[in-house]
Amino acid sequence: MDEFDGLKEECGLFGIWGHPEASELTYIAMHSLQHRGQQGAGIVSSSGDYLFGARGMGLLTEALSKEQLDSLKPFPHAIGHTRYASSGGSELSNVQPFLFKSHKGDLALAHNGNLVNAMNLRRALEDQGAIFQTTSDSEVLAHLLRRERGGGEESFEGRKKRIKKVLKQVKGAFAFMIMHQDSLTVALDDHGVRPLMLGKKDGSYCVASETCAFTAIGAEYIRDIEAGEMITITDEGIDFDHYTDTTSPHMCSMEYIYFARADSEFRRTSTYRIRKELGRSLAEEMQGIDADIVIGVPDSSLAAAHGFSEASGIKQEQGLLKNRYVGRTFITPGQEARERAVRMKLSPVRDIVEGRRVIVIDDSIVRGTTSRFIVKALKKAGAKEVHMGVSSPPLKNPCYYGIDVSTHAEIIASTKSPEEIRDEIGADSLTYLSVDKMHDVYHSFGSKGQCDACFTGNYPIDIEEAILPQEKDLKQKGV
Ligand code: SF4
Repeated sequence: MDEFDGLKEECGLFGIWGHPEASELTYIAMHSLQHRGQQGAGIVSSSGDYLFGARGMGLLTEALSKEQLDSLKPFPHAIGHTRYASSGGSELSNVQPFLFKSHKGDLALAHNGNLVNAMNLRRALEDQGAIFQTTSDSEVLAHLLRRERGGGEESFEGRKKRIKKVLKQVKGAFAFMIMHQDSLTVALDDHGVRPLMLGKKDGSYCVASETCAFTAIGAEYIRDIEAGEMITITDEGIDFDHYTDTTSPHMCSMEYIYFARADSEFRRTSTYRIRKELGRSLAEEMQGIDADIVIGVPDSSLAAAHGFSEASGIKQEQGLLKNRYVGRTFITPGQEARERAVRMKLSPVRDIVEGRRVIVIDDSIVRGTTSRFIVKALKKAGAKEVHMGVSSPPLKNPCYYGIDVSTHAEIIASTKSPEEIRDEIGADSLTYLSVDKMHDVYHSFGSKGQCDACFTGNYPIDIEEAILPQEKDLKQKGV
């Protein structure tokens, strides 16, 4: 899937406590999480007494100036956030971490995911007099934290109690970093939908959305943070706790299929290996199809194509090339712009595909723009046959947990059968991986449970409060 045509991850998180180079390390780590969000970035650092922040729009290199980074250098604690706007607009005020100042102390907040009851909570808070600075659902948590009373205002246990109470009020998929002057608290929702990892660098604890951030700064990957877990890091050490004992792990399947970087690990298994295994399973489903070569759509589908080639014995070739230097800034929404972007981004290698029967492996099909272009381009370059293999099941439903495809209208498989999609993209055949085979692969790597709602419609967290009015109409009509 090409990013101009597909799903977009919402955010990348990184935080480190008690390191002399906290803000530099955060900046470096955020570079490796850039694929999780390119619309804005920010860092908040703590001196131990106060919080200081810097943020800006665009890629990390554009968002934060050298002067801004230099201003954060002296401080030993930092959190950083790369953002893709799916809920809330893409203006600067929505770029995280959010920083709040009050006479009770500073508070910074960064969030990956989507709160399904944010709208209702926000309305209730506004009715009680709260004024919001942003349109982001994450700000709701800050208001709830500021309002929560009891548990002993200043004590460590009192603060933990208040954070727990607030986390129990929000529903949805969230990985939160909550920074006070003297502590960093991270928490994962009770379904563990979004990834969050714990690491250590030179004796200092750090957290990140993906382990590739640890690799970038030379940190040790300790373990995956679990559903419902709440970890607090202070100068005194680390405190492991849970804000709830009622958990039901449903990690996002799309992290494995598409979002996460291939070198990132989940439960000590690289995404590359998981994708390769998905490709091997797909080869079993496509046994009846004869072909001369198999090619993967770069970059996210290369591992699946590799697995497919190993299992089928069909030689893997690089029949499609990706132009890595296509800028993002000129891309405007809309189908025509998307098609132009895909054309600029992918091109076939003529003398590899000419006169051959080609199997193309893609990790998923969302709108179908990329697949249509690829089939057409390969045939124009002389491919005799083009068979499309998808290393995930048909993507039919919107995601309400922080991924930017929020209406059925944007998803081709929500209204069309695989045969109709095959016809529309012009392929000689189209084969998807089955839901069961996908889960078999995940189980073989020790998954504790996966969200597959965009394939099956079985949403593990109730979405009633998050459904847009137009989606409710479609749902009622049975679409
Ligand atoms: S609905 Fe799909 S994209 Fe959203 S969290 Fe579940 S598996 Fe991931």
